[in-house]
Amino acid sequence: MMSKDYYKTLGVEKNASKEEIKKAYKKLAKKYHPDLNKDSNAAEKFKEISEAAAILGDNDKRAQYDQYGSESFKQGGGAQGFGGFDFSGFGTDFDDIFDHLGDIFGGGFGFSSSRGRSRTSRNRRGNDLRADVTVTLEEVHSGVKKKLKIKKKETCTECDGSGGSGQETCDMCRGSGRMTESRRTPFGIFQTTSTCRNCGGSGGVLRNVCDECEGTGTIKETKTLEIDIPEGIEEGSRLKLSGQGEAGYRGGNPGDLYVIVHIEPHEVFERHGDDVILEMPISIIQASLGAEIEIPTLDGKAKLKIPNGTQTGTVFKMKNKGLPYLHSYGKGDQLVRVVVKTPERLTKSQEKAMKELAEELGEEVEPQKGFFKKFF
Ligand SMILES: [Zn+2]
Ligand SMILES: [Zn+2]
Repeated sequence: MMSKDYYKTLGVEKNASKEEIKKAYKKLAKKYHPDLNKDSNAAEKFKEISEAAAILGDNDKRAQYDQYGSESFKQGGGAQGFGGFDFSGFGTDFDDIFDHLGDIFGGGFGFSSSRGRSRTSRNRRGNDLRADVTVTLEEVHSGVKKKLKIKKKETCTECDGSGGSGQETCDMCRGSGRMTESRRTPFGIFQTTSTCRNCGGSGGVLRNVCDECEGTGTIKETKTLEIDIPEGIEEGSRLKLSGQGEAGYRGGNPGDLYVIVHIEPHEVFERHGDDVILEMPISIIQASLGAEIEIPTLDGKAKLKIPNGTQTGTVFKMKNKGLPYLHSYGKGDQLVRVVVKTPERLTKSQEKAMKELAEELGEEVEPQKGFFKKFF
């Protein structure tokens, strides 16, 4: 059989750095992962690039490959399991790639679970969970504790998560939790690795299975959690609550809970980073003569001085009346944009007063004339 060109498979140079190899692999893995690519050749292609990455991503294996070629891995059994999607033969160097892929694709990508299985075959880690929570802008300002109801697998109290008692090593897989089967094909013998059917991958069977949880060590329950939402949090923020995901199979580590925070649009305030913007109507009298007006803020009411002769659209800054910084001390500002409201209906006497004012102001009442002079 001809030696495979792993560099070509990943599309990298012979002297490519580890970073470059990882990058190339990530890119191709995204493209060909069978969960994402339904093309019939995708699985085969994915297998090839995974194999190439497993070898080139490991310094020792890469050196061996450079010297002896891909054939050198077939006999030694060091690279067992490439026929199936078993990554347990991978060096630890590649774990972070899978972490990364997990980040990109979320829990559904399947890497995290296959890794978890190969690491702790006896007790599998529980699933990560995601929950959404919505807060008001006032709550962003003050910080808040939110109660969240989540239905999830919890540790069975009857058996303390063990699933029962009298643990014996599974005969079928001899405790590994995995079954390796050899398959003869025209291209040679392939080994496929799958979860042991007898023990469900745990590697052990129980003589006395817990009735409550039927041996899983977990029970589905609705739990109320209190979540601390820090002040100043941003839309779409993801809070990680370690160990608050689902309980693991038979005492395995629990998964994590990710809470995505959403912020309700506010009736009067508009958020702009750490600042809030408020549009405030003022009367033509307040704008002309100046006034001290009461302004709503996230802190409650506050006073704002409007100087005389204020034009519509003027923005006033109220220092430190915005939202708390998420990562440091201090607060943003509140920006108040004033809009001068022209009275829509005047009483006879008001109209008279206006006209008197107009006469008093003389030409000043028609400032636009000067402004548009060049057009007339
Ligand atoms: Zn139980
Ligand atoms: Zn088994």
